[in-house]
Amino acid sequence: MNFDALGLSPNLVKAAKDRGYTRPTPIQIKAVPLVLDGQDVLAAAQTGTGKTAAFVLPILQRLAFVGGARRKQARTLVLTPTRELASQVHESVRIYGQYLDLRSAVVFGGVKPEPQIAAIEAGVDVLVATPGRLLDLAQQGVVDFSALEVLVLDEADRMLDMGFIHDMRRIIDMLPVNRQTLMFSATFSKEIRSLAASYLVDPVSVDAAPANSTTELVEQRAYAVDASRKGVLLVHLFRKEQWSQALVFCRTKHGANRLSKELINAGFSAAPIHGNKSQNARQRALEAFKSGDLQLLIATDIAARGLDIDQLPEVVNFDLPSVPQDYVHRIGRTGRAGATGRSHSLVTVDDEPLLRAIEGLIRQEIPLAKVPGFEPTDRPPSSDKAGPRERKDRKERSASSNDPISATHSRQPRRPRGPSSWKKSA
Ligand code: AMP
Repeated sequence: MNFDALGLSPNLVKAAKDRGYTRPTPIQIKAVPLVLDGQDVLAAAQTGTGKTAAFVLPILQRLAFVGGARRKQARTLVLTPTRELASQVHESVRIYGQYLDLRSAVVFGGVKPEPQIAAIEAGVDVLVATPGRLLDLAQQGVVDFSALEVLVLDEADRMLDMGFIHDMRRIIDMLPVNRQTLMFSATFSKEIRSLAASYLVDPVSVDAAPANSTTELVEQRAYAVDASRKGVLLVHLFRKEQWSQALVFCRTKHGANRLSKELINAGFSAAPIHGNKSQNARQRALEAFKSGDLQLLIATDIAARGLDIDQLPEVVNFDLPSVPQDYVHRIGRTGRAGATGRSHSLVTVDDEPLLRAIEGLIRQEIPLAKVPGFEPTDRPPSSDKAGPRERKDRKERSASSNDPISATHSRQPRRPRGPSSWKKSA
């Protein structure tokens, strides 16, 4: 099937083709006609499937067909969990709408509200927003929702995970009841289903990839490794397999900062991206990574949500996520829209239950390999026949488990810290 067969106007088909899209993705084939038809849609689509175009293209077509927004009015509202995703959705609105006469704006926290307020003042056909900032602005009377026609809840599961439910409900309560509502989610918990039941009317369910499944285009690898040697293993894989770039996930902001520093000391170009960084710093790191200037982007789950990086070949789970669903989101960063990619999970003995939970969720086995020279020596706590002294040593080692440099210290007691020790062991 090609784009012309979806019922989209020539201006939108041209914009999609300009972008280099030759054929619509499965979620676009399923969702576009329904959205054009004005139906409420509940879509199971993980990021990377082309879901943004699946709602943006038909919405723009409907908006272009009638009317325009008056002062302060928003005709479409797209709610997203993170600033990065909001920026990317807004960018898609601008790209796909380049041949149409429509106005759009994006609002999120962490930056000055004045330019956002000015953009809304003129009236917008599409407003993309994160819930917190939008609620602030709406309560100040900056936005008029009385002419709102379409609401999109993008990555709804993540909005719930991030605790936005109350803000979302307060915003939705301000919207006209008579509207079209579209909800996109990678996973379908009871909470997501109940959210859909409260806000969607006779929704049609579409399913691009079954919920909780990972894309087949991603080759998933897992390596058993001691906690203290994860950093050196990462460096080893990067060099041995001659990666050009990798997106690396850490569980904590602190861990991401620390790993990034250690990688820089080892001679790599690396930067962390997480919620404690200013919006500008996050944007700079992302741009540097996208342009290829940065070899390693070290992210936490929340910051990485919505990052749209074309042709990202390697994703590394430096720490396995503590919530199995996050694994699906993380590896959805690669293998996007037809490209192939690989994910590499560094699994310590303590992580094995998490790996099993992930396998259960995706209903797929992830073989656990050993890399020569990095075979783990840590034993599971249950098989612990170690004396108190050994147990204390292990506890200390695992307390510094995210510190790659300690890898060389715990095994080779008096090596100097810093790049040279990495280079030798990598
Ligand atoms: P999304 O799932 O919306 O985050 O989109 C993932 C990636 O797929 C983005 O880089 C889009 O630009 C790209 N994309 C969307 N639709 C298509 C298409 N029909 N053909 C090729 N790439 C696409």
